[in-house]
Amino acid sequence: MRVLLVEDDAMIGRAVRQGLKNAGFAVDWVQDGRAAELSMAQAGYDLVVLDLGLPRQDGRSLLVQWRRQGLAVPVLVATARDAVADRIDGLEAGADDYLTKPFDLAELVARVRALLRRSGGQTTLLLHAGDITLDPTRREVQLAGAPVELSAREMAVLEVLMQHPGAVVSRERIEQSVYGWGEEIASNAVDVHLHNLRRKLGAERIRNVRGVGYRLIDASLIDPSRAPPP
Ligand code: CA
Repeated sequence: MRVLLVEDDAMIGRAVRQGLKNAGFAVDWVQDGRAAELSMAQAGYDLVVLDLGLPRQDGRSLLVQWRRQGLAVPVLVATARDAVADRIDGLEAGADDYLTKPFDLAELVARVRALLRRSGGQTTLLLHAGDITLDPTRREVQLAGAPVELSAREMAVLEVLMQHPGAVVSRERIEQSVYGWGEEIASNAVDVHLHNLRRKLGAERIRNVRGVGYRLIDASLIDPSRAPPP
């Protein structure tokens, strides 16, 4: 999952970026409104964390502009403007949720996850694909009820595949979900993560569709005995 963080305060920006990274998100951090506008035009984001008081273009006017353009991306406004009138104003400008500074990092991450669940139409916390279960909040994966140890990157790759069950997910989409800007990506990095996932979950579960991308196979389709209990 790729998050755009728009925050001009260096200390808060660094902390939020690290907190989101630790929670398994790919994060692009920009520090002014104009950079945020350019980023939105270039990359596909699953969510935006937006400060309102920003140099070059105010966060509120950015938000109004995005909504006018029909961008449906969930936006969590995180700002020092804590008057009730400001909060109402932010929500009416198109924010999906609102957090006032100073905020607790764990609460921000929890709200981000809640927004993503809602925008994905998910009603439960857990992702399922056959006998694989992924808990995005606890960062835990189970295979047929037994825990599987995955690195943060491996889990991020699996998460994006599980969000599109049965669909082919392009390598580019996987890279975007797992890495933020400025992060060194070795050309075979995604292959290494996929190799490790195959080793840990079973080679038959992740299929390479040559030249297109990768697809997570529901193991119960391969072996009916692996179907989850009704
Ligand atoms: Ca600010």
